[in-house]
Amino acid sequence: MIVGTQVVERLAELAKLGAYDQGIDRGLFTATEHEARRRFAGWARAAGFDLEQDRAGNLFARRRGGGDGRAPIVVGSHLDTVRTGGAYDGAYGVVGAMCALERLNAGGTQTEHPVEAVAWAGEEGSRFPMGCLGSGAYAGLNSIEAIEALVGDDGVRFVAARDGAGGLLPDVRVREGFPRPAACLELHIEQGPIMERAGVRLGVVSAIAGQVRVEVEVLGESGHAGTVPMIARHDALAAAAEIALALETLARQLGECVLTVGHLVVEPNQTNVIPARVVFRVDARSVDDERVDRLEAGIRDECARMEIQRGVKCAIKTLERRAAVSMDGGLRAAIQEALGGLRAAQRDAHGNLDIKVMEISSGAGHDTMCVATIAPAAMIFVPSAGGRSHVGSEYTAPEDLELGVEALTRSIVAVDRLLSKK
Ligand SMILES: [Zn+2]
Repeated sequence: MIVGTQVVERLAELAKLGAYDQGIDRGLFTATEHEARRRFAGWARAAGFDLEQDRAGNLFARRRGGGDGRAPIVVGSHLDTVRTGGAYDGAYGVVGAMCALERLNAGGTQTEHPVEAVAWAGEEGSRFPMGCLGSGAYAGLNSIEAIEALVGDDGVRFVAARDGAGGLLPDVRVREGFPRPAACLELHIEQGPIMERAGVRLGVVSAIAGQVRVEVEVLGESGHAGTVPMIARHDALAAAAEIALALETLARQLGECVLTVGHLVVEPNQTNVIPARVVFRVDARSVDDERVDRLEAGIRDECARMEIQRGVKCAIKTLERRAAVSMDGGLRAAIQEALGGLRAAQRDAHGNLDIKVMEISSGAGHDTMCVATIAPAAMIFVPSAGGRSHVGSEYTAPEDLELGVEALTRSIVAVDRLLSKK
């Protein structure tokens, strides 16, 4: 049985669902996202796995384990995309999990724990305003009632979308509640340039960065662009620009953190009117929560400085705050050992060509950071060409996709053995 090229073929198949000239747009419970889950269910049935879904929209394909009544090892990612998504973010981790389970079948490998390939619902938050919607529900971070009350950006309520044509699969059993897993694994593209630049093909994730999102409103004073002297101005945009640049400098000085001002609204936004009001949003991240705190404090300091220097008024509102999540040490060690075996096997097959492996932190959020709050969790990365992600040109080489699936398969076995000793 040849399972080697399936990951590439299936990703190409999924990439057609929701494709348009800017990339892939596949929001949760749309017709194309529904079709992606339908394909996943088809692969699971063909391999003899048991299918279940839950009320958050998560879909599970279960390969039975040998041990009695053990909780499953859940392995997966998401099938939804941002509005200008690529073919690999999320989809690779779902298809990769399915291919890994098939490799266990092909190799006749028995695990003690059941292993579930899972498609977590709505990770990107691109239709309903909640990131990691399905994995957050599964981990109990958000109640199903709160999720059901969400309204999509198209005005459709979550419940209506879930119970409609693009929603839950009609022929799959609905699981009650959200059972706790034994462990959680996720295979994902890096979405950054670090591995490619270092010539590394596999990454073992050490931690997922914490994040804060802050909205700042700067109130200045409007006036005629031609008549108000420079000395008499309270320009809201000039103040906002100074704050943004000062924060960029602060992030560079601190190091091991990133800060972005990626959203800015100017009022009245007229060429010949001094800006009266500016609203901008700051996104700051680090695997070190203290650095995130210092960046957030920096926003307050810079706003206070502008109030004095430019006579503007600043209002600061924290929109979202999330602590950094460390990946489980035991799982990471088991994965490193499994990758050691993979490297040795590759050396035997290809002479001296060794595969480089590195520990890497994730600046992007992932479903695993939610599930990590209820079970030991770990992630494996493969490189992203040019570090590109959330764009149609996102790309990972087929040989890296294949290698990642083999790494995941071996890691599942290693984690099963580790947890079975306990
Ligand atoms: Zn993703």
